[in-house]
Amino acid sequence: MDIAPYVPGRATTDDGRKVAKLSSNENPLGTSEAARAAYQAHSGDLDRYPDAGAGALRDAIGGHYGIEPERIIHGTGSDEILHLAAGAFAGHGDEVIHVKYGFSVYDIATRRVGATTIIAPDDDYGTNVDTVLSLVTPRTTMVFIANPNNPTGTFVPRAEIARLHAALPKHVLLVVDQAYTEYLDAADDDGALELARTQANVLVTRTFSKIFGLAAERIGWGYGSADVIDAMHRIRAPFGVTSGGQAAAIAALKDTGFVARSKAHNDEWRAWFAGEIGKLGNAGLRAVPSKANFILVTFGGAVSAGEAYKALMDKGYIVRWLPGQGLGQGLRITIGTEAEIRGVAQALREIVGG
Ligand SMILES: *Cc1c(COP(=O)(O)O)cnc(C)c1O
Repeated sequence: MDIAPYVPGRATTDDGRKVAKLSSNENPLGTSEAARAAYQAHSGDLDRYPDAGAGALRDAIGGHYGIEPERIIHGTGSDEILHLAAGAFAGHGDEVIHVKYGFSVYDIATRRVGATTIIAPDDDYGTNVDTVLSLVTPRTTMVFIANPNNPTGTFVPRAEIARLHAALPKHVLLVVDQAYTEYLDAADDDGALELARTQANVLVTRTFSKIFGLAAERIGWGYGSADVIDAMHRIRAPFGVTSGGQAAAIAALKDTGFVARSKAHNDEWRAWFAGEIGKLGNAGLRAVPSKANFILVTFGGAVSAGEAYKALMDKGYIVRWLPGQGLGQGLRITIGTEAEIRGVAQALREIVGG
C-alpha cells in the first residue's frame, strides 16, 4: 500500500471531450504503414500462441543494431523489462537509486520487490552523476537512469555515463533506459549500448512505443550481458508480446524512412516550441532544454502550472502535470502535430499573457 499507482497520461478532458493528447509522448505521425500491414497480416493466427522466444524479432533487433540476439530480452513494453530487472536484481534490504524527477515506474518496480528507493536530488532538473554516486552504499544493487530523462528531457552525455559506470561497484546493475534514444542526433550517442556489450553490469532498455509508434502493442526490449539477460528470462511472462506485435515491430525497424521523418518533425517543432516558450519568459515560463519528444515547461510567474493545466484542458489540450511526483511547478508537453503544437503555444500565450 506504500506504492503510488502509475498515473497514465489522460486522453479526455474532465468533461469527457476527446481533444489534443499531448500527455503520453506518442508519435504524432502515427505508425509506419508497413508496420500496420504486418500487424494486420496476423489476424488469421489469433488462435495460436505467439513465439515465446520472439526469435525473429530478436534477430531483427540484433541485425539492426549490430548486437547479439541471444543477449536481447523482449517484454510487454519496456515497463516489463524494468520490472524484470528489479525482480532479478533487487529485493528486501536492497537499495535502488534513481533521480528525483525520474520515470515513475522505477519507484513502483523497486517497491514491488520490497527494495528501498533512494532518490538522487536533481541538478536544475538534470541528472548529476556525482550526486548519484554519493548515494551508493553496500546495500545498493541497481541504478536507473533514463537518457534522455522523462519527464525532464535532460540528457547525460557519454563521458558522464562512462564515469558513472566506472565508479559503480561491480555488483551494482546500471540500467540505462533509452526510451527516447531515437530522437537524439548521432553525435549524442550516450555509449550505453557499447557499455552493455562489453560490461557485465549494464542493461540498456528500449521501446517500440515512442518513435516507432506502436504504444498500443506493448513491445520493449533489453540488452545486457548473458548472465543478466538469463536471470531476467527466468522470471518473464512466457508469451508477453503478441504475434501481431512481433511482426509489426520487425516491419517498424525496417521502415527507416518513417523513423527519420518522425525525428525530423520532432527536431523542427521542438526547437520552434522552445523558442515560443522563451518569448514567455517575462511571464515566468521556461522550457527546460530537451533532447526528447517533449518539453518540460516550468511556471514561475503569476499563473501556476496547475492553473495553466486546467486552462489548457478547457482549450482542448491535455498535457502532463505531475504534482504527485513532486513536479507541481511544471507541465510536460509532447511535441504533437504542427497544428497541435502551434495551438498549444497560442493557448499558453493567451493563458499567461492575455
Ligand atoms: C515511455 C517510456 C518507457 C516505455 O514504456 P513502454 O512500456 O515500452 O511503453 C520507458 N521508459 C521511459 C522513461 C518512458 O518514458
